[in-house]
Amino acid sequence: MEKQVPSFVDKVVTWFDTHAQAKLEEGHANQEKWIFPFPFVLMSVSTLAAFYVGFNWVAVSVAVFLYVVRMFGITGVYHRYFSHKTYKTSRWFQFVLALLGNSAAERGPLWWAAHHRHHHRFSDTPEDTHSPSQKGFWDAHMLWWSRRKNVATRLDLVPDLAKYPELMFLDRFDSLVPLTLGGLMIALGSFLHHFYPALGTSGFQMFIWGFVVSTTVLFHGVATINSLSHVFGTRRFQTTDTSRNNWFLAIITLGEGWHNNHHHYCNSTRQGFFWWEIDITYYGLKMLEKLGLIWDLKPVPKRLLQPTGAKDIVRPHEVVPEPAFAKTRIAGVAGLLPGMTSALATQVPARSPDVPNP
Ligand SMILES: [Zn+2]
Ligand SMILES: [Zn+2]
Repeated sequence: MEKQVPSFVDKVVTWFDTHAQAKLEEGHANQEKWIFPFPFVLMSVSTLAAFYVGFNWVAVSVAVFLYVVRMFGITGVYHRYFSHKTYKTSRWFQFVLALLGNSAAERGPLWWAAHHRHHHRFSDTPEDTHSPSQKGFWDAHMLWWSRRKNVATRLDLVPDLAKYPELMFLDRFDSLVPLTLGGLMIALGSFLHHFYPALGTSGFQMFIWGFVVSTTVLFHGVATINSLSHVFGTRRFQTTDTSRNNWFLAIITLGEGWHNNHHHYCNSTRQGFFWWEIDITYYGLKMLEKLGLIWDLKPVPKRLLQPTGAKDIVRPHEVVPEPAFAKTRIAGVAGLLPGMTSALATQVPARSPDVPNP
C-alpha cells in the first residue's frame, strides 16, 4: 500500500511530538536526506533582531548567565550523566537535571544520549553520525541532526533511561521546556520594564538576548565538540578516532574540550585529567556532590595520571599532524565546505579495545 504523504498540518503538529515526527520520517526511502530545520533556521535568523533591540547590560548578562548554566546542562547532565552515567543521583533530581539539559533546546535527554553513545561506539568510522573526517565540517557541526535517519530517538541505545516515563515525556515533547524558557524571558523583561524602568530593558529585548542569542551561541558552542574537537588540538592518547584536547574549546564548553582524554576514557566524571586542564563542569558537579544532590562520581584511573608509566600514553600534548581539512582553514569559510573535505575520508581504523563503551 502506498504511504500517505503527510500534510503541512501533520508536520506542524508532529513537530511538537518528536516521537510521532520520527514515525513520519521513517517511511522515506532516502534516510540520508535532510529535512528542513525550520525552528533552527528561524532562531538563527532572529539573532539579527539583536541589532534592532540594541545592547543592554541586563539583557546581555542574562544571556551570558543562561549560556553558562545551560552549557552545564549539556555537559554535566546530558553528557556526563545521561550519556555516560559517570555519577549517581536521586530520581527527583535526575528529573530536575533533565529539565536543565532540555532548556538548552538540543532535543530530549534520550535522543541526545543515544546519539552520543553511538558516536563513542563508531567514532570517525563511516557509521559515525557526526565525524568531520568522514563527512566534513558542516555535517559534523550542524547538519547531521536534521538527516531523516537521525530524527528518531534510538531507544535501543538508552534502555536504562527509557524506563523512566518522566524522561520519555520530556524526550517526546522536547520543545516544551525551551518554549517555556522563551516565555519566561518575555515575562522577566516585561517585569523589569514595568517595575525597574531605569534598567532600560523590555520583554522583547530580553527574549532576543536571553533566549534567541543565548540559545544560538550555545548551540554552536556545544557543536564545536563534534566538529572542531576532532580537528584542532593535541593528542595525549593514541585513540583510534581523531579526538583532540583543545584548551580554548575547554573554556567555552566548560571542560568538554579535553576531548581526546574523554575518548580515551569516557567513564570518569572529570575530563580535564590534570589540575591545569580546567574543567568547570567538573567543579560544578563537585559542588552538587558537596550539597548531597549527586554522589559516586567516577574517578580517572590512576594509571592515566602517570604520564611516564602508562603504555597507552604517547607523550603529554604530543602534536599529531593536522589532517588535510585543518590545512584548508586559511582558505576561509570556503575551506570548510563538505565537498572540500573529502581528503579527510581516510582509512577507517579498527576500534580500540581499550576504549570503554558507555
Ligand atoms: Zn567525539
Ligand atoms: Zn562522551
